Amino acid sequence: MDLSAEAVSLQSWMTGIRRDIHRHPEIGFQERRTADLVAKHLAAMGMEVATGIGGTGVVGTLRAGTGTRTIGLRADMDALPMQESSDKPYQSIHGGIFHGCGHDGHIAMLLGAARAISESRDFDGAVHFIFQPAEEGLGGALAMMQDGLFQRFPCDMIYGLHNWPHLPLGTFGVRPGPMMAAFSTFDINIKGIGGHAAMPHTTIDPVIAAASLIQSLQSIVSRVLDPVDAAVVSVTQLHGGSAYNIIPDLVALSGCCRYFSDLNGQKISAEMIRRAQMTAAASGATAEVAIKEIYTILLNEEEETVRCADIAAAIVGEAHVVKDHPPIMASEDFAFMLREVPGCYILMGAGDPDHACMVHNPGYDFNDEALVVGATYWQRLVEAALRKP
Ligand SMILES: [Zn+2]
Ligand SMILES: [Zn+2]
Repeated sequence: MDLSAEAVSLQSWMTGIRRDIHRHPEIGFQERRTADLVAKHLAAMGMEVATGIGGTGVVGTLRAGTGTRTIGLRADMDALPMQESSDKPYQSIHGGIFHGCGHDGHIAMLLGAARAISESRDFDGAVHFIFQPAEEGLGGALAMMQDGLFQRFPCDMIYGLHNWPHLPLGTFGVRPGPMMAAFSTFDINIKGIGGHAAMPHTTIDPVIAAASLIQSLQSIVSRVLDPVDAAVVSVTQLHGGSAYNIIPDLVALSGCCRYFSDLNGQKISAEMIRRAQMTAAASGATAEVAIKEIYTILLNEEEETVRCADIAAAIVGEAHVVKDHPPIMASEDFAFMLREVPGCYILMGAGDPDHACMVHNPGYDFNDEALVVGATYWQRLVEAALRKP
């Protein structure tokens, strides 16, 4: 691997930071210690530092030369509300909170890159190091944007990175276009008329309507969407009734959808509402449907994806970059930033025999060997995107 000398020299510094953050995890929008630590390190590098953006977000800005181009590099800071299963000396000291997605590593490698870049200053323009809160389902990216992120720190391009244990250490994976799915939730209330279960003819039974609707929702993907498009509609909760002999008034069902195009999101929503209302109406019941898009589709810009893949290939070798990585059905809130600013989100391989656990598994631990690879990637990306004249 062709690693940056600056990043290599910072390996133990980054590892120390990573393990300290790992020991002190904080969940979304509560990353106060983490944000203070990030701000302190950025300030020590001589950067302009802004804190409290979108809650606990931090931005450090580094300028060099006379160029007016700007680039944003983003890391996420939150841990997960889950219990770690580890006997590592740096295991989480907070029960039920754990850096199970490797955001501790994302912070450390972006700080490492910030230090390497602030020492070499081999670029022309401005770099905004963006540390966002609450990636895990709470929408920290949008919170920063609604707090004026891109007005205060305008970016011509923006980039994100996630460690990926399913790809071996020393590899990268990326794809142009849709790379991660949109995530929407739905809540459907079916209202009937309850009564004695021995006299069902005097009721309008919402349980029967709910059973029909669940079956019907399962054919939206297979019969409404183009079969070459991937999508998911899952009913994950079903609530109703309180006794053996009472037909309830109400049955509530909830679940989530995933899709890779806005059009398919609209089709799924419209079809879900139509089927809920028609299925309920068939038995005289009514249905109320609430659908919320939580995370949008992550779309990598074509030109930026080529740039990122080339930079990754220069580090790990052409054969170790998967340039057409299959789209991932999970979601990522960096997608909102990419909707406003062109850029690219890349997966960095982090798997080896000691780090085979996937993220969100209680046995997961960020692979510290990946810190230098990630910091090198960030440094080379800045040097290429803001090349000196
Ligand atoms: Zn995660
Ligand atoms: Zn993550």
